[in-house]
Order: sequence, then C-alpha cells, then structure tokens
Amino acid sequence: MLKGANRKSQRCEKNPGHPGFIPAPEFSLCHLPVELQSDIVLRYVKNCAARTVRLRTIGSSHERPENYPFKEFQGSKVPHWSSGWVCGVYFIGGPCKCHECSAEGAKPKDRSWELTVVTACHGVYNTEEAKQTKVTFFYDDETSGNNIKHLYGNEVEYANAREDRCAFGCITHDEALAVQMESLRKERVYLWQSILNVAPFEMQHSQCVIISHPHGLSKYITVGQQVEIVSNPGTSQPYYKYLADTCPGSAGGPVLVLPGLDCPDPGWLPIVLHHSGCAGNGENIYINVSGDRSTLYV
Ligand SMILES: [Zn+2]
Ligand SMILES: [Zn+2]
Repeated sequence: MLKGANRKSQRCEKNPGHPGFIPAPEFSLCHLPVELQSDIVLRYVKNCAARTVRLRTIGSSHERPENYPFKEFQGSKVPHWSSGWVCGVYFIGGPCKCHECSAEGAKPKDRSWELTVVTACHGVYNTEEAKQTKVTFFYDDETSGNNIKHLYGNEVEYANAREDRCAFGCITHDEALAVQMESLRKERVYLWQSILNVAPFEMQHSQCVIISHPHGLSKYITVGQQVEIVSNPGTSQPYYKYLADTCPGSAGGPVLVLPGLDCPDPGWLPIVLHHSGCAGNGENIYINVSGDRSTLYV
C-alpha cells in the first residue's frame, strides 16, 4: 500500500509520480537555473512559500455559473482543494469573531486580526464558500506536525470570475501568526526591490516559480520556462503561459516570474499572478496559465 501522498502522486493523470515537484523545505539554489542562483532569489521564493496556504472548501455555492468548476459539488459535503497566499494583515481589535471564539460557550479573545488570502475565484467563489474554507498554514511536508495552523475563511473582499481572482479575510486572535505574516509581507517588498535592481537576469527565457499544494498535499515548488504573455481583450492586464508543472489543487498559488532577456518590461516583476489552469496542446505537454496580472492583492 502506498501512503496517501505517494498514492496521489503515482495515480496523478497530469504529472504521474510528480517528478518536477520539489518539497518546499528542500527547495534550494540547485533547483534554479544558474543565472538565478542568488541568495536574494532564494529568499524571495522562501518568503512567498511561507505565506502560501492550502485551501479546503466543502461543497460549492448555488451562485456558481453553470459549467463552472466544482458546480457539481453544490449542496454536497464533497471537498475541493486550492492554494492561495496571505497578502494583507490588519488589526481589527475585539471581540474576536474567529471560528474558535464564535463557538457556543467560548469566551471571545479581546484582540484580533484579519489576514487577507488571495486565490483563484474558481477555488473560492463567494463569501458562502469562503466560510466553508479551511485555510492551512505551514503544511510544508509530512514532518510539519505542530507547526501547522488552521483558520477559517470569512467575508470575500474581492471576487472576479473573469480574472479568476478572489480575496477573502480570515479572522484570528493568534498574534504570533499575524506578526509573522506581516513581517514576511514587509520583507517581500524589500526582496522585490532587490530583485528589480538586478533584473532582467542573463538568461534567454523568463522563468516561473510556482508554489502550491497539489491535490491538497503538502507544499511543493515547481520551476519552468515562461512561454508567452497573452494580451487580454477588454482589459489592460495580460495573463501568462508557462511550463512549470501544476496539478489540481495548485490553482490560486503564487506564480513568481523571474524576468530573463525575453521579458518586455523587466521593471515590472509580476509576483501578482496566481495559477489558474491548463491550456493543453494535445501533445501531452501541458501549457499552464495564470489569472490576469494585477496590482491588487499582492
Ligand atoms: Zn498531480
Ligand atoms: Zn478568536
């Protein structure tokens, strides 16, 4: 008998055996092209990995359009998986309205914070679904054990099906978690600036690094070439195509684009992409696609 993680990866139809998926704690400079092998790039990837979360949503909302993913789970208890990351931290005082403090007989804590999580709209569609979503932090590998933390989703702050983007809040009284996420968010700004100072990198093709929880498994990182930046009719923002591996459950995870010599605008380092799906080319080579580029919910 294969253990859960092994079984899911061996039976995976898209990427059997998951050969390109690197467990997040093992990710190191050797997994990057030579031109990207710098400490600042590694810190940037690790920073985004620490803010990446697993999302488990029970059922789906009757408001999902016909033929939209997971529509078939409407009214059921069947879970689906997606990924996301923490992009904002706000102190909201008390009494705390988190899942735990809202339980019957609980004594609500007097200080609380809201963490904003961004993901794909087809993973979490609206507030009804956000409230059915369990958000798991620090599930890095099978040894993560006591480090893992869980919160539940609350109100949706932004949802756009065409962009395939959703941002929702999670309320917590866990000050250590809020402080850690805020310090990572601030560090990201510094790392981003440091990378912009050296971009574009001396490689022919821009590279995409994706952090996600494929099939709801622990956190994995994949790396692959950017293939195309596609203009979007009716919007000023393009979306991206890339060869980095993804699986069901990866949707909503961050796609970090590290600009090479083919980047039309190295001054724009589009961390603000989330994985959206797969275009496929009919030759068993999967071309994966992002949601629209955005300056919202970085
Ligand atoms: Zn898979
Ligand atoms: Zn609470």
